[in-house]
Amino acid sequence: MTEVSATASISNAPKDAAAVILLRSNSDPNDPEVYWVKRSEGLAFLAGFHAFPGGQIDSTDSSIDVRNSPNQATSTMISGAARELFEELGILVVRGGETLTKGQRESLLDDLESGRMTWPALLAHYNLHLDADDFTFVGRWVTPPFNARRFDTWFFLARCPDKQEPKVIPGELESGEWIRASAAYQRWLENGVVAVPPTLHALKTLAGGITPNLVERFLARPAAHGEVVRRIEFRPNYICFPVRTPTRPPATHTNCYLVHTSQEILIFDPGSPYEEEQQVLAECVDSLIAEGRTVREIVITHLHPDHVGGVNALRDHLLGNVLVAAHSETADELPNIKVDRLIQDGETITLRGEPAISLQALHTPGHARGHLCFHDADHHALITGDNIVGLGSVLIDPPEGDMTKYLASLKRMRSIPNLSILFGGHGPAIATPYKKIDEYISHRLEREARILAAVQKGIAVPEEIVKVVYTDVSPKAYAMAERSVIAHLEKLSSEGHVQFDQNRYSAIR
Ligand SMILES: [Zn+2]
Repeated sequence: MTEVSATASISNAPKDAAAVILLRSNSDPNDPEVYWVKRSEGLAFLAGFHAFPGGQIDSTDSSIDVRNSPNQATSTMISGAARELFEELGILVVRGGETLTKGQRESLLDDLESGRMTWPALLAHYNLHLDADDFTFVGRWVTPPFNARRFDTWFFLARCPDKQEPKVIPGELESGEWIRASAAYQRWLENGVVAVPPTLHALKTLAGGITPNLVERFLARPAAHGEVVRRIEFRPNYICFPVRTPTRPPATHTNCYLVHTSQEILIFDPGSPYEEEQQVLAECVDSLIAEGRTVREIVITHLHPDHVGGVNALRDHLLGNVLVAAHSETADELPNIKVDRLIQDGETITLRGEPAISLQALHTPGHARGHLCFHDADHHALITGDNIVGLGSVLIDPPEGDMTKYLASLKRMRSIPNLSILFGGHGPAIATPYKKIDEYISHRLEREARILAAVQKGIAVPEEIVKVVYTDVSPKAYAMAERSVIAHLEKLSSEGHVQFDQNRYSAIR
């Protein structure tokens, strides 16, 4: 939705975190094996993504004395990295622990997990210590501000000690495996996994071998020094480029997508009205053009200002040399944007060049009348616009919003076979498509059942219904929630469950 709010820039400071890129001992230095994990589907952060073990620093990490550490900050991060590695994979990279048996390590882990012993107490009790020489710092990456949860993550390379074998401890992780760095990167290239930029950068760097300049290669990008990545490739050929927009909290950015082959670029939703944001997006587009591509079209998923705010600026930047395409019901509502081509339900846009990319447009109204999603059957991907988002919730605001149509659109998206990724209008990509769509549908139906129950109890106006149904949201959000209640009531009314008379709703029994 479109609300311009002074409170849009909510505080979302990154939290300290550490991750370990675990190398298998005795693997080929020219293409080392690394242990990567698949994150559980139920997680709030990057569910279903492939990544390295790691997590948030906890309060005990700063009390650990790490030998040979240059400073306190590094010691804290190494402690967090070592602790997470132990908690998630059972791997203990410590000095003094060489004689511990597998059974002893398991019992230590149990002490830690059960809370019988803290991490510092455990190390002290068994006379173990951490040494900075066992953890090579290879970069510090900050989660882009489009995530609900953000981390400032220090990455460390560590060698898996002999006689220890990583084992995924059920919980945050679903699975894990040793894999050659080049093979892991290849899996991503073949659309087999979803990953974030630091993971991909590490795999690509390691695939170049354990060379004397390895650390230098790891650190050779501004993003490895905490500069926020702008161009995010959760999947090959789909650049997600979040731009700051006046959108609805908790979102602060809208995702522009640059879907590209060797010859063409299709640009979805350049939404920022801010000049400096338009400028960085234009630079990214220019770099793709400089590699020999042309812009096929700018495509608008739907009419909200946070999705169209930069369309004219980008067209101007490209000297007017580009068509803008949208659904007719979107084009009709955008007097200030010249829409050159109308996109109809079912039509396919096929890009020239390699790899073959065809996107089929799906008219999926509900959030907005002319809303379009785009399905790439070859790559099992769906660009969902604001119908499904990776951050925050979707507002159905009548009369533009229509709950009956929205649920029908969600069901239509649910019926698409073999999806493995959703690219939403806000937040990170979603690697658990069907789970997410099911959650959306059941969440709406649960709300609706509670709204109907409220009306059946005699609560007759949306303003009052909100208070009994949206008990989980802050009263500040009531005005917005009321729009959703009205959308549900309209649906219930069209289905003959409630009636509306003299500004009051009542149940039809
Ligand atoms: Zn929207």
